[in-house]
Amino acid sequence: MKELFGWPKQDANWILIIEFALMVAFFTMNTSDWVLQQRGLLAEHGSFPVSANIFAPIFSNFGDRFLFFSERAAWWFHFVGILFFMNYLYYSKHLHIILAFPSTWYANLEKKGKFNNLESVTKEIKLMMDPNADPYAAPAEGDEAAAPSKFGAEDVFDLNQVQLLNAYSCTECGRCTSVCPANITGKKLSPRLILMKTRDRLEEVGKNIDANGKFVDDGKKLLNDYITKEELWACTTCNACTEACPVLLDPLSIIFDMRRFLVMEQSAAPQELNLMMANVENNAAPWQYNQADRLNWAKD
Ligand code: SF4
Ligand code: SF4
Repeated sequence: MKELFGWPKQDANWILIIEFALMVAFFTMNTSDWVLQQRGLLAEHGSFPVSANIFAPIFSNFGDRFLFFSERAAWWFHFVGILFFMNYLYYSKHLHIILAFPSTWYANLEKKGKFNNLESVTKEIKLMMDPNADPYAAPAEGDEAAAPSKFGAEDVFDLNQVQLLNAYSCTECGRCTSVCPANITGKKLSPRLILMKTRDRLEEVGKNIDANGKFVDDGKKLLNDYITKEELWACTTCNACTEACPVLLDPLSIIFDMRRFLVMEQSAAPQELNLMMANVENNAAPWQYNQADRLNWAKD
């Protein structure tokens, strides 16, 4: 067994030892406290069902001074241990415990399946449909939505802060992947991996910036180098992953933005989709026949 819960075995052993020591300190503190309460040396407070019923018979053999000492020593050990752990959290894989709070706060509370429209595209369509609009009018100064630098996401720089936060908040529990129909039917997609790969790329970019003072092009992108087109197009956008996530993470929004890049920047949608989109554009329906022929079936 090389790993335990995703940790290398050596690290996992240390974590188990530390957790065991903290729990010993916790029960020592409570049991000493309980016995001292029973002797009338401390005011009665709280109930300690485990300590009182299981450990108290052992501790009742000890003297008062030892019990006071063990209660204080265990209290300080536990207290310092928790402070240490809180600081260690930031550097450890448990960082997600802290980041889960802001991630949940900023979670998408819109109805599942409601996707965000690009303001610039909405404007463009409104302009096309407005007979009084001047198609040659220059965009208003400072109107960034009128001329976006890029559609969709090709790299982590193109993702928003909540998506990046999501990547660091994932506990890697795999609930999303276990309900993903694409994954279940043997496709290459795993929503959990989408977040993990985004985080890996983010960390690589962070190291690049640390080493060079600013980001120096490393010839890599999130798209293709980390997340493949095959994974992106395997998604059915069913939202099962976002429903299943215990901390309301949204791997689908990353998939969606990367697909948007493929379609709007590279025209690299699969052939079937291109055909469907061309039909919608020309026939106002996904089928390959003219609007005037829609009722032909009724004549047969
Ligand atoms: S939305 Fe996509 S990634 Fe999420 S469960 Fe459905 S198919 Fe899988
Ligand atoms: S269900 Fe949420 S926390 Fe668990 S692996 Fe998936 S995205 Fe991460």
